[in-house]
Amino acid sequence: MTSLSDLPLRDNLVGKQPYGAPQDPVPVSLNVNENTHPLPESVISDIVASLAEAVRGVNRYPDRDFLGLRAALAGYLGHGLVAEQLWAANGSNEVLQQVLQAFGGPGRSLLSFTPTYSMYPLLADGTDTAWIPVPRPDDYALTPELVTAALREHRPSVAILCGPNNPTGTPLDLEVVRAAYDAFDGVLVVDEAYHEFDAERDSAVTLLSGRPRLLVSRTMSKAFAFAGVRLGYLAADPAVIDALRLVRLPYHLSALTQAAAEAAIRHSDEMLATVADIRAQRDRLAGALQDLGYLVHPSGANFLLVGGFAEPSATFEALRAQGILIRDLGVPGHLRLTAGTEDETTVLIEAIRRLGPGGARS
Ligand code: PMP
Repeated sequence: MTSLSDLPLRDNLVGKQPYGAPQDPVPVSLNVNENTHPLPESVISDIVASLAEAVRGVNRYPDRDFLGLRAALAGYLGHGLVAEQLWAANGSNEVLQQVLQAFGGPGRSLLSFTPTYSMYPLLADGTDTAWIPVPRPDDYALTPELVTAALREHRPSVAILCGPNNPTGTPLDLEVVRAAYDAFDGVLVVDEAYHEFDAERDSAVTLLSGRPRLLVSRTMSKAFAFAGVRLGYLAADPAVIDALRLVRLPYHLSALTQAAAEAAIRHSDEMLATVADIRAQRDRLAGALQDLGYLVHPSGANFLLVGGFAEPSATFEALRAQGILIRDLGVPGHLRLTAGTEDETTVLIEAIRRLGPGGARS
């Protein structure tokens, strides 16, 4: 058998690790920020009916430009958006990869503010785009001054602002987006994977008019409880969509994906009915952990970054041994916890309480 080191791999991939959040079949799985609530039965029936219809046509390639789904996504986002301003792919990871294929690449760069979503540097590597990490301040919050200074200094080809930010939960104010857009002449992506959980803020789609270099990426994997379908999408100027069409693979979005996503969007109110409960569980988890003496960072998402663990890896393993999976992202003293159902959240709180002050030690 050959090993990876024997292969003529591209230089910038040598020594790199693939994305690898554990996928254990544990009873309480709170490590990849999914919506842990089951889909409503009425919605499942309509999705199944739509899939059955779509299966009849799979001898043919799917609609390459999926205008039906794009119109449905435009209608869901509102704010006067039209199908020509929407794009979609197999998860927002693929959308972001297409953005880097079109606007990044050799000799170009991607800037983001760290700690942030761990896929950004991997997507940069995969597209041979230079990765420029700029550290966030201690409270992780971005300000117009901070982003303006960084973008003027580095002048990246692409910048991503993640709001709410994964893994810190930090909300993103639109004044930061406006300042970032004006500070450089590259492509600005606002990654709003968790936007539906942030009831307090407007979406950056409200800023699209007159800003052709602004791209807003979204996903059905989180609030929509549709992670297994793989449907991420993006709103931007129609010219940006023309650029993405240059790099997408033909027929990248299967007829089944299109049918399932369109059916789910028809039921968006029911699909999003659990968001209020998830926010309530997040706030209950925050309160309980604060009472136990942990440092809980403000979050606009369905998860919390929590500090005060003496040995995060020991707490991670102690919880894993009890069938609870959370995430250790290497932020010293910190772990990321997703808010689940009421029962899952209770199990998590009680397990952490039993570990005693500062969590487990090895
Ligand atoms: N952006 C952020 C900030 C995320 O946390 C995730 C998923 N963890 C994604 C994008 C990608 O999600 P998906 O590909 O499932 O749409």
